[in-house]
Amino acid sequence: MSRARLFSGPEDRRIKRALCIVAHPDDIEFYCAGTVLKLSGRGVEIAFLLATSGDKGSKDPEQTPEQLAAIREAEQEAAARLLGAGAVGFLRHHDAELVESLELRGEFVAAIRRTRPDLLLTFDPTPGYRYHPDHRVVGRVALDAAWPVARDRLSLPDLGAPHETAEAWCFGGPAPTLEVDVAEVLDRKIEARLQHRSQTGSPAALRHRWRAIGGMERFHQVDLR
Ligand SMILES: [Zn+2]
Repeated sequence: MSRARLFSGPEDRRIKRALCIVAHPDDIEFYCAGTVLKLSGRGVEIAFLLATSGDKGSKDPEQTPEQLAAIREAEQEAAARLLGAGAVGFLRHHDAELVESLELRGEFVAAIRRTRPDLLLTFDPTPGYRYHPDHRVVGRVALDAAWPVARDRLSLPDLGAPHETAEAWCFGGPAPTLEVDVAEVLDRKIEARLQHRSQTGSPAALRHRWRAIGGMERFHQVDLR
């Protein structure tokens, strides 16, 4: 594999469309929102797909999973607007209940064939211990959906025309191969994260913490061609 084939970063002109497949509301803002801002800032079409709507993460004894999901979807849509994403899809599986299944793979294949990305942004599925199971499942299934299933015309032919995604950038893993400097968009990334009000204690503390962490996002690049 020649590294010259791989995209050089979000400025790479070969990237026209990108699809982010994640598990929960706020995953994108945490892991890759700066990169998304750099892509959308130069006109790349961006779509988000969330496997769950984060319907279990509440300590409020009065709140139902349905109420929580509706709040978190609205928050994710507000964040998506700030990040320049054109489409946000919710598969509405239950939080912390994702498993590798043909159903989930088919849903990801349908999204890939509909949005036809050059670049897939998703979780690195390789970390072993204390890794959110939904993150591991989404990373594995998204990569399997992109290659080979979405590409092959005889696989799941009812789910749209085959599509070859050139590359995946996987975040959250132990062996990044691409660093994206997002310092110039860090404040906008933080504002997008702050749209997730139901998942934010003190906005001031979060701003302070995220500025201290700094403006670097890291990915493991996977050639899917
Ligand atoms: Zn998550």
